Amino acid sequence: CGIMGYIGQQHTQEILTNGLKKLEYRGYDSVGVAIHDGEEVHVTKAEGRLDNLASRLQDAPLQGSIGIGHTRWATHGRPSDENSHPHTDDETEFAVVHNGIIENYIELKDELVAEGATFTSETDSEVIAHLLTKLYDGDVVSTIQKVVEKLDGAYALGVVSRHTPGKLYAVRQASPLIIGSGNGENFISSDIPAVLEHTRDVYILEDGEMAVLTEESISLMDVTTGKSISRDLFRVDWDM
Ligand code: GLU
Repeated sequence: CGIMGYIGQQHTQEILTNGLKKLEYRGYDSVGVAIHDGEEVHVTKAEGRLDNLASRLQDAPLQGSIGIGHTRWATHGRPSDENSHPHTDDETEFAVVHNGIIENYIELKDELVAEGATFTSETDSEVIAHLLTKLYDGDVVSTIQKVVEKLDGAYALGVVSRHTPGKLYAVRQASPLIIGSGNGENFISSDIPAVLEHTRDVYILEDGEMAVLTEESISLMDVTTGKSISRDLFRVDWDM
């Protein structure tokens, strides 16, 4: 339902939860974040309101300069801690947040389970994390391209990988996603208001596009061909 992602030197956990708070109006049944601490990716999530997640994070704060967060509006699998996003593969090589619906998840899941993957949720979204690990070829961008090729349906994705502690990935197909361009920091979000306290310069992703973010750069590409896309920043001149 709502996606917020951050890469930069500010307090990642706080930026993610503040951003998710701005997306609350969309409605949700659970919330979660994944933060890369430079070595590993750690996930904290909770059914219910943002307060539930906030109190878990207060007890065990997550440190790191790159993260993704999600507010879920359940379509596949009841609201629960396990079904909350982000979702990961067995070894937490990848964490993913997903808005939308993966129409062919049952066949993908059957195949992954037959190959030994352990699913911890009932969601359609979790197949994406397991596919990322299965198809990982040493390059996260080309791996995401291969995964997306297998997905039918609507998705806005935010992805972090243990393999790339300095990169954040976003993909859009039939579900809104924007990239916020900051100074030494960058953002992804499903909605402009969530980034407005940080920046007014955004790229609006279009269907079939992927963005790769570092602290200092944003590159846009066609997710099918890998061809890079040049686009002007959109300056948001309205207020919330
Ligand atoms: N289909 C996914 C799920 O049920 C994502 C729902 C959403 O967009 O929040 O978990």
